[in-house]
Amino acid sequence: MENKKELRTWLDDFQLNHPLVIAGPCSAETEEQVLKIAHELKNSDVSIFRAGIWKPRTRPGGFEGVGEIGLKWLQKAKAETGLLMATEVATAAHVKLALEHDIDVLWIGARTTVNPFAVQEIADALQGTDKIVLLKNPVNPDLSLWIGGLERLYNANIKKLGVIHRGFSTYEKTKYRNNPEWQIAIDLQNRFPDLPLICDPSHITGRRDMIQEVSQQALDLNYDGLIIETHIDPDNAWSDAAQQVTPATLKQMFVNLRVRKISD
Ligand code: PEP
Ligand code: MN
Repeated sequence: MENKKELRTWLDDFQLNHPLVIAGPCSAETEEQVLKIAHELKNSDVSIFRAGIWKPRTRPGGFEGVGEIGLKWLQKAKAETGLLMATEVATAAHVKLALEHDIDVLWIGARTTVNPFAVQEIADALQGTDKIVLLKNPVNPDLSLWIGGLERLYNANIKKLGVIHRGFSTYEKTKYRNNPEWQIAIDLQNRFPDLPLICDPSHITGRRDMIQEVSQQALDLNYDGLIIETHIDPDNAWSDAAQQVTPATLKQMFVNLRVRKISD
């Protein structure tokens, strides 16, 4: 990755004077739910709307996502709100469909980053794309695996790259759902200073009452952005109910957060 500077240009294109904010539900559930949340998030600090339509569940039996139909809902949400749309891709087939539906941001989830074959397949399907591609850290605290995934994407000539720090799973229960192990992300940031680094306090904490605190820690560590799960009815969300916040709570959080202005 000789020209790491290139990695950053897409973030500058947003011309934000505050960190990049990605928000939206863990999962797209219905067209109505997607549109309602997107409308509540427009004209706020949020630039990118997130919603998972293919959901990698740790165990079978959970809600595994609405699938392809959700891409149409995202297209509609974009047309109505102007927000850019982001979704998770885990296979080459997902990538093909997401590109066909002109999804702006594709992220690779933590359970996928652990698998070099899967990341390579996705990288090949994304070859040369001008879409924004975000790589979450692997579920286990393995910096090399995270960097390896990044290299596979970079080698596929994907220029608009970024990473999402969503914490690392542990067998021992801690106060976090996924232990942040900040040092791993900071180490990555030091090695790739021009690579946008986004914090995912939702999956780090697993609980909505800790999201502001972890977001502030990330901002104090100079992260470039936050991705925060946001739902109109968090308690009744079809996945990750305990960690989602309402659009109103999200907006209040941005009033409370000490946000570093780029001009500071
Ligand atoms: C998600 O973003 O909803 C998700 C499944 O995240 P992760 O890959 O970090 O578990
Ligand atoms: Mn989730």
